[in-house]
Amino acid sequence: MKHGRRPHIETIAVHAGQEIEAGTGAVTPPIYLSTTFERDVEGTYSRGFMYSRNDNPNRQALERGVATLEGGEAAAAFGSGMAAGMAIFQALNAADHVLAHADAYYGMTRLLRELFLRWKLEADFIDMSDLAAVKRAVRANTRLAWIETPSNPLWRIVDIKAVAEIVHEAAAICVCDNTCTPTLQRPFELGADIVHYSTTKYFGGHCDVLGGIAVSKKEDEFFQRIRAIQYVGGAVPSPFDCWLILRGMRTLPWRMRAHSENAMKVAQFLAQHPRVERVYYPGLPSHAGHEIARKQMSMFSGMLSFEVKGGRDPAMQVAARTKIFTRATSLGGVESLIEHRASIEGAASRSPEGLLRVSIGLENAEDLIADLSEALAG
Ligand SMILES: *Cc1c(COP(=O)(O)O)cnc(C)c1O
Repeated sequence: MKHGRRPHIETIAVHAGQEIEAGTGAVTPPIYLSTTFERDVEGTYSRGFMYSRNDNPNRQALERGVATLEGGEAAAAFGSGMAAGMAIFQALNAADHVLAHADAYYGMTRLLRELFLRWKLEADFIDMSDLAAVKRAVRANTRLAWIETPSNPLWRIVDIKAVAEIVHEAAAICVCDNTCTPTLQRPFELGADIVHYSTTKYFGGHCDVLGGIAVSKKEDEFFQRIRAIQYVGGAVPSPFDCWLILRGMRTLPWRMRAHSENAMKVAQFLAQHPRVERVYYPGLPSHAGHEIARKQMSMFSGMLSFEVKGGRDPAMQVAARTKIFTRATSLGGVESLIEHRASIEGAASRSPEGLLRVSIGLENAEDLIADLSEALAG
């Protein structure tokens, strides 16, 4: 990319982190499985690599690629989204206070509650769509706020810019879990300091690789701590994982567009269906967060939930009757998935009993609608 103008996101996605391999001219990067790298005769490592846990060519390419796509200075890749989240929390000190969105990904709030409280982090879980509640919850030792928007599984919208301002006034770090909205929502432009992804989802895009990444706007002291945890803690992705995720990134902007277009059509179909109590999709004008969503998202992504009238049993039956949708957890792959959230989250679940969460894939929307229509007809 030789010209001065900043290219569009599709162009960045195709080229970021990519180099033609010098020795062979390979256009697609090789996978470097070597765990160890040769020292120079003087004992140095002039070629930049020493041991694969510290750094390796595939991870470096992935980190550069995702940092460039996101508009951040640096990124650290991990073996899963949870490992990336864990490294961010571990970069804090004992007795630091974390503010987390109560409606955030279940695993992430669980990580704070079940693990980090024992290690003396303090945490409050609040509805971050309520800015007054955010202001009230800030304490003298608040060091980090964990935003997720749209949040899983009700797709509530948090005003990233407004929360970042409140958090920065308290000299705390603003982290945004952008797993469900890569390329559609640009948290750094709205004030976030760190963007977190489970790359298992849309980045990988094909339900065949686990990964996570923490992208930092600045290569600052806090990021250096995350980097050190990556080296020392070792929850790193394999070279093949990195290769797959970077390969997924090449098509990410186009896939996000298609996921969003399909989801909008499915949401509109469900919204007028007599057996559907409620649809949760931020792209619908009836959604409580629609106005803010329109301001901070270019499209509304492929995730939506709906409540089937009558609660748990009718919802389970609808999920059982679909033929194209697969009953499975996770999201962001080419294939559509359907899931009863309350039963997977267990006793502490906050999800309504009749709620089904769907990850809208890249099939034709008409086929997805026909499948749901038949499943709902019973
Ligand atoms: C899946 C997910 C995570 C956890 O990522 P893993 O790759 O499963 O460890 C975190 N946040 C969100 C929003 C997710 O969807």
